[in-house]
Amino acid sequence: MKESPPLRTPENSCARCGACLPVCPIYRVSGREELSPRGRMGVIELGLDDRRAKKALAACLLCGACESVCSRELDLTGKITVAREKITDPVDAGITAAAKISRMQRTLAPMARLIARATKILPRESGLRLKLGIGVPALPPEVKASPGGGGSELLPGTIAVFSGCFAAWLVPNILTATTALLRILGDTPHIAEGQGCCGLAAVSSGHGNTARTLARRNIAAFPGTGPILTPCASCAHQLRQYPRLFTADPHWQHRAIAFAARIREFSAFFTDPDRIAALKPCLSPQPAPLKTFCHDPCHLRFFGRDRTRKSRDLLRLVAGLDLNEFHHRPSCCGMGGAFAIKFPDLSRRIIAPAITELRERKAAVLTTACSGCLIQWQKRREEAGIDLEVVHPAILLARRL
Ligand code: SF4
Ligand code: SF4
Repeated sequence: MKESPPLRTPENSCARCGACLPVCPIYRVSGREELSPRGRMGVIELGLDDRRAKKALAACLLCGACESVCSRELDLTGKITVAREKITDPVDAGITAAAKISRMQRTLAPMARLIARATKILPRESGLRLKLGIGVPALPPEVKASPGGGGSELLPGTIAVFSGCFAAWLVPNILTATTALLRILGDTPHIAEGQGCCGLAAVSSGHGNTARTLARRNIAAFPGTGPILTPCASCAHQLRQYPRLFTADPHWQHRAIAFAARIREFSAFFTDPDRIAALKPCLSPQPAPLKTFCHDPCHLRFFGRDRTRKSRDLLRLVAGLDLNEFHHRPSCCGMGGAFAIKFPDLSRRIIAPAITELRERKAAVLTTACSGCLIQWQKRREEAGIDLEVVHPAILLARRL
């Protein structure tokens, strides 16, 4: 067989092949090369730093779809994240202040109550402030814990829980449901004091120092070696990314690696065969079925070991739900951290086909295990005026206990 000619670009750079274009949600709705993964790689590799280049870097959902098909297996989201940290004003790139405020008001009007509550109760350093458009999070206080690591183990049968800002502050029912499920299985949930925002919004907006401070605080809040369960798929992803934040700090990187290995995502945790067997008999029979759809968070579809099958297994096998599948191909919901705030029109266009399908098929429930996706679906549901319950799977399960 004749060998293919060698690619002319260096190994760790974009081959310009275009395999990533069809899967990029932004390219699909915009059709613009500079907003494609290949375009962003061009910006990074050429070291461009003008307004258009900054917008290209800012207008990325960090969904990971491009990485899953890249012919060079490039770490695109890692490269884009690092590049964002180097540009001066990554959050506001390409948007004037007036335009930003008017867009925010339009975008957030349907979520007024949630926003009002969030403004009052969210900690100053919560990344949800960025996602909800109510300000840039403050730099959190530096962790005071000894840098030695280790710490005491929890008692056997105790499961540490990382809440995430959404469940901790805005929708505590998610946390109540998660801990109820743990108790049914005979585990004792432990919501560690001192934990805070996972830092995903900070890192994806180019605020690396804030993300590192948040990471150090969370690592220090969870001593020991046992599993750490989180009900949010995006938090799970970010907590597992902590070692990447400390490439220049071997001591904290060592601790971050041990911490990351302990993280358990909600659906994957509860679809362990022993837990399924224990949970199933505790659930009351399925009441009259509601037409339920499951949205797959990108952090489950494209990253790590918790694939989407787990969410479906949990809802089908354990809860006995008759899940409906979308006819259109699965897609990012268009949230992307602060993306939905910065680029509301693109964000709306990304989710529009799914909203239309749910309306036409008279869906009653949309469930997803990611706080960012839950915010986006709630917001777009209200904008579209459709009667759809948007709910975390923990709540669906706990209702039947
Ligand atoms: S991470 Fe997602 S939005 Fe960003 S370039 Fe890749 S496919 Fe496009
Ligand atoms: S698939 Fe990878 S190598 Fe090919 S154009 Fe996209 S980023 Fe470049």
